[in-house]
Amino acid sequence: MTAEVLVEIKAQNMDKTFTYNVSIDMEDKVSVGKRVLVPFGNQKLEGFVMSISNDKKFDYEIKNIIDVIDDEPVLDDEMLKIGKYMSSKTLANLISCYSTMLPKALKASHKTNINKKYITYLKINKDNLDKVKTEKQKEIIALFDKELVLKSDAVNISAASVKTLINNGVLEEVKEEVYRYNLNGNYKDKNVSLTSEQDNAYNTIKKSYNEFKPFLIHGVTGSGKTEVYMHLIKDVIDNGKDAIVLVPEISLTPQLVNIFKARFGDIAVLHSRLSDGERYDEWRRILEGKVNIVVGARSAIFAPLKNLGIIIVDEEHTDTYKQENNPRYNAIDIGIYRAKYHNCPIVLGSATPSIESYTRAILGTYTLINMPTRVNNNLPKVHLVDMRNEIKKGNRIFSKLLKDKLNDVIKNNKQAIILLNRRGYSTVLTCHSCGHTFKCPKCDIPLTYHKASNTMRCHYCGYGVGRIYECPECKSKDINEFGMGTQKLEEEILKEFDGAKVIRMDIDTTTKKGAHEKIIESFRNGEYNILLGTQMISKGLDFPNVTLVGVINGDASLNIPDFRSAERTFGLLNQVSGRAGRSKDLGEVIIQGFNINHYSIVKAANCDYKGFYDEEVNIRKRLGYPPFNNLCLIKISGRDFDLVMKESKKIANYLMNNIDNVLGPGSSTIPKINDIYYMQILIKYKKSEKMYECLKYIKGIYKTNHKVKVEIDINPLRI
Ligand code: ADP
Ligand code: ZN
Ligand code: ZN
Repeated sequence: MTAEVLVEIKAQNMDKTFTYNVSIDMEDKVSVGKRVLVPFGNQKLEGFVMSISNDKKFDYEIKNIIDVIDDEPVLDDEMLKIGKYMSSKTLANLISCYSTMLPKALKASHKTNINKKYITYLKINKDNLDKVKTEKQKEIIALFDKELVLKSDAVNISAASVKTLINNGVLEEVKEEVYRYNLNGNYKDKNVSLTSEQDNAYNTIKKSYNEFKPFLIHGVTGSGKTEVYMHLIKDVIDNGKDAIVLVPEISLTPQLVNIFKARFGDIAVLHSRLSDGERYDEWRRILEGKVNIVVGARSAIFAPLKNLGIIIVDEEHTDTYKQENNPRYNAIDIGIYRAKYHNCPIVLGSATPSIESYTRAILGTYTLINMPTRVNNNLPKVHLVDMRNEIKKGNRIFSKLLKDKLNDVIKNNKQAIILLNRRGYSTVLTCHSCGHTFKCPKCDIPLTYHKASNTMRCHYCGYGVGRIYECPECKSKDINEFGMGTQKLEEEILKEFDGAKVIRMDIDTTTKKGAHEKIIESFRNGEYNILLGTQMISKGLDFPNVTLVGVINGDASLNIPDFRSAERTFGLLNQVSGRAGRSKDLGEVIIQGFNINHYSIVKAANCDYKGFYDEEVNIRKRLGYPPFNNLCLIKISGRDFDLVMKESKKIANYLMNNIDNVLGPGSSTIPKINDIYYMQILIKYKKSEKMYECLKYIKGIYKTNHKVKVEIDINPLRI
């Protein structure tokens, strides 16, 4: 018997399968999907068995497999296929795809000491009770009014006596595996009957339990999508099948987990904040069929459920469903692949679907389901405030309206949330008096300022001009990198408002595990009257006592040099506008900015997704951005700037000679990080075969080049 084993050859940055002989004594143990130890040159490597064969003949000597690591395969037929699919789509090495799919404890070539965790109990052997001698021993025996006693309890009395009793055969150890992840807390299940919109969504999807069919639920915030998901899951479980629910990392709160637990009992939870041990345990509970619902972030899409009946992807527009490092896969693509494999529906849900997904729904690739009304029918009043006028009146940070309303909140013992929409990059220049941004005429992307050359450049196509000192719109010379941090804003609030009790939530205050929840809790129970934070707080805006939401620099995210910045701005402001005023008191939202007439802001204030979509799609069409083309980003980096430049030009030339619509090379948004220079090439494409061929060729050439690194990102979400 021989086996094909996939191993990673680190020095060449590649993986490959090699044939090994299976010795007679190992034939029973070796099977497809298990990890094995094999000789390679003069080293030993771990690899995955990809296939086995009984009739291959070799006229040269092949080496033996040294050892089999797993008792059970860690990759089944479906997972083996998913890995191959992922590798072909992302151009990442196959073994890195398998590693991404598995918890750390099961990856190949990963020396870990992550083990199963056991609790040890003691059992009594009544036949040997005559051997109990000392007082301490008697005290221990007295614990046995039940069959099993925790060993630690007995050891507390006397470790030496426990040892003696075990040695004398009076006590016996019994080990039981425990699973580390355990979320305490409880939540009472609400028994609700579906609204007619929910019922319609549920019944539409219900018809397709036994076929592959993708759905897109476009449901405004508060339309009750979660309840629809849970009704679907209930049916699927009752039919003996399994369900995966993907949610963004940031919404995977104990509260959400408890809602699912209250309804369904035991579920598995997978996200990046679990320890390696917890993750390993959750994984095995799924594998052993102990749970049939998995709720988790991106990587939960690989949960080893055997009999999937539905896949749900909530907030489907979320960027974090795409992995930013190798392999750069998108969890929704994997979800669709798995739904096809299992012949089951996949349901994507969002209040602000990605432009690509909504287009697929319009074209009929996805079945569109609309849920346009909120369960409680309560929309807040949204005000847009033009800061150009306010600045003239001397109100540089807070508009008159925001000042008045915030003072009312403090006076009336209500609460407010202030969102600081941080500019993504301080290197974009804007006019401080009118908000004008300098853009590339060809790509409609804000130009980035390069200090060294004193130029402003487009990082999509490479276009550049000298730094501009006077605003072409209003002739002001006040052109600056504009930006204020949350800490500065906190100081300003405390200075300006008497009686303000501010709690701040941003990257600095939430690094510790659990800090996020603590801040939310202390705000919820009224210790503070103002919650101040960055984009991060827009998800948690569900507080009954909050009557006011203020957004500082509501238009700032438009100045991020990325063609998706309008889409992201709309999403953020829509989220904010949709979340305020969840209780009886009518909520108010104040959005401040320089460019408040931008369609993304006006449509968000009116909660008009379709209106936004129509405008956005026109611009995308004119400039050839997705969904009208696909994109591929090639990043070239290295320490030697001249070399990076030279190789980037070589790659661009090669591509231009073979395919159309190659842009660049240009500098990346951040051209230099830690002394490493970054250049990039962008490809707009419709058909992918020829491009993939070219990319594979390039990848092959640079894989052993240690001076210049070439990374390929197909369908990048940030450029
Ligand atoms: P979405 O995810 O669409 O933003 P949620 O699922 O969070 O909306 O639902 C909003 C609120 O409405 C939740 O508090 C939920 O418990 C409640 N809710 C959902 N469906 C119903 C219903 N049919 N009857 C009463 N309350 C409901
Ligand atoms: Zn200006
Ligand atoms: Zn350009």
